[in-house]
Amino acid sequence: MSKEDCIFCKIVAGQIPSTKIFEDDTVLAFLDVGPLSDGHTLVIPKEHYEKLHECPSELLGKVGSKLNKIAKAVSDGTGCEGYNVLCNTGRASGQLVEHVHFHIIPRNSGDGVFDRWPAKQYPDGKIETIAEKIREKL
Ligand code: AMP
Ligand code: ZN
Repeated sequence: MSKEDCIFCKIVAGQIPSTKIFEDDTVLAFLDVGPLSDGHTLVIPKEHYEKLHECPSELLGKVGSKLNKIAKAVSDGTGCEGYNVLCNTGRASGQLVEHVHFHIIPRNSGDGVFDRWPAKQYPDGKIETIAEKIREKL
């Protein structure tokens, strides 16, 4: 998806409406129009990058530095018991909008959101093999 076709870039540019809750020079937070719960919020860098790992550290740091403040406001403002912070990256993960964004999803006991968390177990030795493959890329 090019920057020109990006719905979040259009929100940043004010070309389509959004319900903003926070904005500064580099970061924008607004309510998700298809919420998993009341107050479901999206936090984005204003600059367009598709994936988390394509976003420069400095910019990501600026987004991250606002997450705690915004999450507290979402938490206090909705009175939720907890929240999930989620960054879907890539189509396989469920990323539909190809502009990096963090979901803040207010949660309450028994709300049924993410009811299924399909945890597995590693067979013997596999955890170390996988860790080594990842470490060598750092
Ligand atoms: P993802 O699946 O992680 O890419 O999430 C994209 C999110 O953007 C979804 O939860 C949508 O409901 C939300 N969304 C799409 N268009 C808009 C919009 N115009 N304003 C606010 N949220 C939007
Ligand atoms: Zn964009």
